[in-house]
Amino acid sequence: MRRFSNYACSTAHLPLAEREAIDLLIRTATQRQGRIVIEHPSLSIEAHQYGFAVHLGLFDDLSDRPDDISPELWTLMNHARRMGANWLWFDRDERPSPAFPVFPAVDGEGTGATAQDDTAAVLPPPGTITQCCRSCGGSRVMRDAWAHWDESAQGWTLGAVFDAAYCEDCEADALLVERPVDTKGTAV
Ligand SMILES: [Zn+2]
Repeated sequence: MRRFSNYACSTAHLPLAEREAIDLLIRTATQRQGRIVIEHPSLSIEAHQYGFAVHLGLFDDLSDRPDDISPELWTLMNHARRMGANWLWFDRDERPSPAFPVFPAVDGEGTGATAQDDTAAVLPPPGTITQCCRSCGGSRVMRDAWAHWDESAQGWTLGAVFDAAYCEDCEADALLVERPVDTKGTAV
């Protein structure tokens, strides 16, 4: 026996076209001796109830990305492989990671919320704070910051955050204040 590792990932990290193409392959998959065969030209894919899993064994034979795998998927697969996974498990209920880009999704996908726990998922944990504009009280505020390139995550990672702030509602530089958030998710 051998133990396999799975790396779970939100389907929202897959470009929409590729996600739809794989879903179409799953919908139109044929059966061979009762087993579902998903005919992707490069990938070994297994469908499951909340998405699908991609086998990472192709790195044994390939070092360059085949044309039928998007750079985004290739990056995720490489990352999972480096974490020691044998399978990259795409799950529409998995929360997206801030380390990877997210692509616009259909209802609820990629938010980590399901139809049953919609309300529970959006409630902030106790002690959650928000940042507000001192003039108007709005929370559409931002700070100056710089980012550095993270080669392993293949994305920009937040570095220092500077004091300068801006309020989108005031359309002006702003001073920020911290406010606690109540259990309904609104600043108090
Ligand atoms: Zn403001």
